[in-house]
Amino acid sequence: MNDIEKKRIVELKAEGKSIRDISSLLNIPRSTIGTYIKNLETVSYCKCCGKSIAIKKGHRSRAFCSDSCRYKFWRSTNNSKNKTTNYVVECLCCQKKFYSYRSLKRKFCSRACYDSYRKGGGGDEAE
Ligand SMILES: [Zn+2]
Ligand SMILES: [Zn+2]
Repeated sequence: MNDIEKKRIVELKAEGKSIRDISSLLNIPRSTIGTYIKNLETVSYCKCCGKSIAIKKGHRSRAFCSDSCRYKFWRSTNNSKNKTTNYVVECLCCQKKFYSYRSLKRKFCSRACYDSYRKGGGGDEAE
């Protein structure tokens, strides 16, 4: 196979063609295409820098090419999260964790929890 054929295989595969279709279109044995596609699918791309990552057979795919890319990626997503004031608060009633978009002053995940907490003699927590 030359590079043009390899490129065509990828294109046809992306179009949803089966190995059989590609085989008859390009006049390449099915087994050759099958092996090529299999190898293709063990390549992943770094979520951070876009570099291709070769995944060894039997290994789990990786999202990042290196630890520094993983670190950079998570740091950038964490930074963008901080811009929207999004707090994780634990409900005083059911201990469920929920997001409060307003402030940490919110103590209950729902109105129902607020009511039952107060009925249960949990004090005068005003929301
Ligand atoms: Zn990377
Ligand atoms: Zn609750």
